[in-house]
Amino acid sequence: MEIALIYRLFKQYPQVVTDTRKIVSDSLFFALKGDNFNGNKFALSAVEKGCRFAIIDEKEYAIDDRFILVDDVLTCLQNLARMHRRELDIPILAITGTNGKTTTKELVFEVLKKKFNAIATLGNLNNHIGVPLTLLSMNEDTEFGIVEMGANHPKEIKFLCEIAEPNFGLITNVGKAHLEGFGSFEGVIKTKKELYDYMYKEKGKVFVNTDNPLLKEMLNDQEIVSYGNNEAAFSKAKFLQAEPYMVLELRSPKIGKLYVKTKLIGAYNFENALAAVTLGRFLGIDEIEIKNALEEYLPSNNRSQLKQTEKNVLFLDAYNANPTSMKVAVENFANMTRKGKVLILGDMLELGADAEKEHHDLLELIQEKQLQDVYLVGDLFCKVNVNDQFQTFAKTTDLIEVLEKANLQNQYILIKGSRGIRLEQVIEKL
Ligand code: ATP
Ligand code: MG
Repeated sequence: MEIALIYRLFKQYPQVVTDTRKIVSDSLFFALKGDNFNGNKFALSAVEKGCRFAIIDEKEYAIDDRFILVDDVLTCLQNLARMHRRELDIPILAITGTNGKTTTKELVFEVLKKKFNAIATLGNLNNHIGVPLTLLSMNEDTEFGIVEMGANHPKEIKFLCEIAEPNFGLITNVGKAHLEGFGSFEGVIKTKKELYDYMYKEKGKVFVNTDNPLLKEMLNDQEIVSYGNNEAAFSKAKFLQAEPYMVLELRSPKIGKLYVKTKLIGAYNFENALAAVTLGRFLGIDEIEIKNALEEYLPSNNRSQLKQTEKNVLFLDAYNANPTSMKVAVENFANMTRKGKVLILGDMLELGADAEKEHHDLLELIQEKQLQDVYLVGDLFCKVNVNDQFQTFAKTTDLIEVLEKANLQNQYILIKGSRGIRLEQVIEKL
């Protein structure tokens, strides 16, 4: 009953707001709760600032008929999104995976926009709140939806699929991250696999990077569209280089070889770009349009970004870090033939019992790759650097003091760590 009423209101006022700092007039305010806030307390201010109605779940805040009392605001938001998604009747692609979800989503979005009125997850809004909000931002004019799904606990992807009801699914890759929440690497695999399982059950299609054996193992006997740098793949491309930017080669029967010069750093972005190429090809988008879309995309938010300062070239990847993405980033950097390279890494957080071992393994990789100018930040790196092979710092601010004195010039500098380490603070010193 309650949800039917909310749905009617949503049809009339289709803008949904959850943050009183971002009020839009004639919208619906959903009073969500978090660890440190209670949206109910902001409901009055939301309607005063222009929201038509506030959906709340604490009776004492229901002052007049602009306040709609429901059992639980979050559940209500999710149910509303599910209902709206069913009405939409459009294809939706769900993207999950350990690394590269947002980048892949952005690249797919860029490509699909060449032909469709597409809507994609804004930024990184990929959880039990972000997915409903993404769905609710779609409307009758939307022709294609692209939804990023994140998880740090088992069953989360299944739950998000049951809201978004995707027709297509794509797992970018599966690696080690959020091990605390998942319990183990097996837990990560199982949770990501929930997307394949959902698509199998609902007879949807999955897009699979068949260069990746783990993804192939996770498949059921289901319909796939394969991509990769392998002969059997439906959609093929070749990685050419990543120094400094990632370049790939497409081939088209009509045009021949096409070089795609992206503005992304890192060889690991090859699979993200090829995922976007594949969606484009599958949906009948012209190969040249696909190339243009990939070349037009500029990364932001310290994610696979190249920044030329007056003194140095920065490979900015301070957006996040986990053992898998660290490994590929360090390998990519080590493979660059250029002399004069500096590595600045921050701790990888949320790894639970595996934390020390993973940091230790990374130090071994750095040694093996013979990278010499290395600065490491964080308690974990400090702890595993037992032989003092590298310069370590407890905090980014400590490193900044040293960088000020070092005055690095004419270097390639990779900056990567978990967001909590806030490595981006060093940028202005470089
Ligand atoms: P989050 O879990 O925070 O949503 P995400 O999966 O959306 O992350 P992105 O934001 O696209 O990932 O990329 C974050 C970082 O992951 C990049 O800066 C890069 O270091 C690394 N990365 C991106 N793509 C890949 C990939 N295909 N393989 C390994 N690492 C990758
Ligand atoms: Mg993301």
